[in-house]
Amino acid sequence: MQYNPTIGIETHVELKTNSKMFCRCKVVDTEEPNVSLCPTCLGLPGALPVPNKKAIEFITLLALSTNCKITKQGMFHRKNYFYPDLPKNYQISQFDLPVGINGSLKIVLNDQEAEVAIERVHMEEDTGKSTHMGTGRIDSATSTALDFNRSGVPLVEIVTKPVLKTSLEAVAYIEELRQLVLDLGISEGKLEKGNLRFDANISVANSESDVLGTKVEIKNMNSLRSLERAIDYEIERQIKALNNGEIIAQETRHWDEGKEVTKPMRSKEGSADYRYFSDPDIPNMVLDEEFVNIIKSKMPKLPYQKRLELMQTGLSIGEANILSKSNDWIVKLFHDVYSTTKNSSSTYNWITGELQGQMRKVEINELPSWFKADSLSEIINLIESNKISFSSGKVILAALLVKNVTPYDVAKEQNLFQENDSEKILQIVKNVITENSEVVVRIKNGEDKLIGFLVGLIIKSSGGSINPSIAKDLLSKELEE
Ligand SMILES: [Zn+2]
Repeated sequence: MQYNPTIGIETHVELKTNSKMFCRCKVVDTEEPNVSLCPTCLGLPGALPVPNKKAIEFITLLALSTNCKITKQGMFHRKNYFYPDLPKNYQISQFDLPVGINGSLKIVLNDQEAEVAIERVHMEEDTGKSTHMGTGRIDSATSTALDFNRSGVPLVEIVTKPVLKTSLEAVAYIEELRQLVLDLGISEGKLEKGNLRFDANISVANSESDVLGTKVEIKNMNSLRSLERAIDYEIERQIKALNNGEIIAQETRHWDEGKEVTKPMRSKEGSADYRYFSDPDIPNMVLDEEFVNIIKSKMPKLPYQKRLELMQTGLSIGEANILSKSNDWIVKLFHDVYSTTKNSSSTYNWITGELQGQMRKVEINELPSWFKADSLSEIINLIESNKISFSSGKVILAALLVKNVTPYDVAKEQNLFQENDSEKILQIVKNVITENSEVVVRIKNGEDKLIGFLVGLIIKSSGGSINPSIAKDLLSKELEE
């Protein structure tokens, strides 16, 4: 039987605000536990929450940039559950009146643009952090240490509709979302630090059925590799179970990174289990037109717009996508260099390939202060106009990364300019042929590999100034006569 998988993704993004969601405590990035706390984020009796305006602005910005409809009358709800790192015993979240609903995000999949439907964008607060001593697992730990630095840090949750079909589509979606929050300036966007964490809801259904299969949720992944593997594993597990006549349980599973399997955590709770009710301590939130218009006016260039601009230079959507997800200085360098070379393909190749490769080699993360876009344009133009060879271009680039020189100076100093006087080149070729008549006879008798030997002699007698392919062409022509 043929099965179709359906995937929905919930992503928690940690917002880059100075203070926490409902108190003045600083958001800190430290290993030292429990240094940023107050009665509010510790859930002490009588402490009252006050929403963080900056966080609401950031969430609204994200909702607008994903084409969501903004809910004018927003509301904060209590999501009730017990866990040691949740001292209030509830999380302040949003329920039926989130900041944004019914949006979409343009992604690039298999070198084509696709669109992912977004169900909602809403506010959440983070919990504290539990460290299970001994084994690292709650069920076998000797004790558990609690750090409340993260308690109350603002999060935004973005929920897609169940519309994704493959793990690769899910990865492309997360890559796009990560770039979006970076470009909006609302999050550090570092996956390795858990700034973005995702849950995947996965079901498979008989391809002839219109009804979705039973949904299984995989919790808390924070790398693209885990996301891809966990989804692939889970789809396969469910198909195998259905083929064996088993019933898929609606449950929450955990991705075991080491064993590369999903394992059951608990049966999936429904939203009724959380006893949502509106938080009596926080007034309703009004996001009126004036507020929304101010946020709209702060909208920076979005990733898909950056892609479109790059494609207008002639880059393919795949190339534009890679470049648009690079650091800002790389995108700017591309536009600056392209404005002189007008050759998007070689500009792209030099920047994404040779330049970044050489930078890694000399272990620098940013260009030296003296390095100008014009210098790279000059190298590309010298190659395009056959004044230097491609490999000389690499030599010049390497020199530019370590000292303040111009491409012209390096080419001159290292004698890299190619001889373009065809009379002069022809004379050198003829001399080499005359001086190596025995070799020429052997070539004419079929020893083709000796052509390379003569080409080497030609280049050597020109002092390295002749382009090898030109030398080879002329030599072949001369030998035919
Ligand atoms: Zn606090």
